[in-house]
Amino acid sequence: MKRPNYLAAARAIADAADIVLTTHINSDADGIGTSLALAIALERLGKRVRFACPTRPASIYAFLPRFGMAQTIDTEVAAKAMPACDLLLSSDCGDRKRLGACSHIPHGKLLNLDHHVTNDRFGDLNLVDEVATCSGMVAAKLLDRLDVDLDREIADNLYATLVFDTGRFMHSNTDAAAFRFAARLADLGVDVSAINRALTYTKKPHDLAVTRLGIERLRVDEQEPRLAGIALSKEDIAAVGEPEDWGEMVDIPRSLAGNQVAYLMRESKDGTMTRVSMRSNPPFQVAPVAQAFGGGGHLQAAGATFPGSLAECLREMIPRLRRQLHD
Ligand code: AMP
Ligand code: MN
Ligand code: MN
Repeated sequence: MKRPNYLAAARAIADAADIVLTTHINSDADGIGTSLALAIALERLGKRVRFACPTRPASIYAFLPRFGMAQTIDTEVAAKAMPACDLLLSSDCGDRKRLGACSHIPHGKLLNLDHHVTNDRFGDLNLVDEVATCSGMVAAKLLDRLDVDLDREIADNLYATLVFDTGRFMHSNTDAAAFRFAARLADLGVDVSAINRALTYTKKPHDLAVTRLGIERLRVDEQEPRLAGIALSKEDIAAVGEPEDWGEMVDIPRSLAGNQVAYLMRESKDGTMTRVSMRSNPPFQVAPVAQAFGGGGHLQAAGATFPGSLAECLREMIPRLRRQLHD
């Protein structure tokens, strides 16, 4: 593993006057919070800053300071029509394809700031820190290099990245550095409980109807009881209606005692694709399964889009997931 070069990334920022921040499709609290934290900080350094999201950011993130900066750029035409920037700064994204239309924004250099083990170094500069718990921690280290003091608005955004990517300090990426970062942000005045509530207790009745469907479709593997998941067909999803965000539905199978590998599969409307989310407990890994199907992520939290129906996806992936429990 190559050591991340914070100095080179700090220099690229110092050299740029006009910066566009972007993140992965179906952006989450880590991608959005990291981008907003950087946006606030870079403006303070006198940069012209914009923030382009390749898909519309979910409204649950509207509480994040400066959320209003986010622009949705979801077509190649809209991306190419944007005024050119010196630096396109991608946060929390492991490959160019996941930038969607935003990879077409006219730019000088592309800086790839991330923490995914499967990151393919698609930038001109790559600040990929695989030991970092969240992209927000990579951004904070970069801001330290740039001598930017963290203010309350930056800290609120960064705390959201940390809480989200650790699953409220539950996942295997929760380590001493994560708690030190949390303490640093709490010292800056972050209302940690308010942010936890804003990320957690904001379900709409429809979201709970979707959760009920998930519980109804829960299946424990008959050959391998440590494997469980939820498989939703296009008919299932049409009947309840697509939620704005699938949230943490994969935590339902995960919450069973003895579960080691969990999945959520969602068939697309036309039945040609199935989106898969996977989670595992150490030492078991799901990143290799995601990569085998063109996706990626972290060792214990990964995703992929399977090119086929739900039935085909189950047929191909379940044996692969069972195998992860024996490797
Ligand atoms: P998810 O299951 O969608 O919450 O994703 C789990 C982790 O894997 C996140 O860190 C994602 O950024 C990453 N991930 C999900 N889908 C993909 C994909 N198709 N390609 C690369 N990384 C992905
Ligand atoms: Mn993310
Ligand atoms: Mn992340």
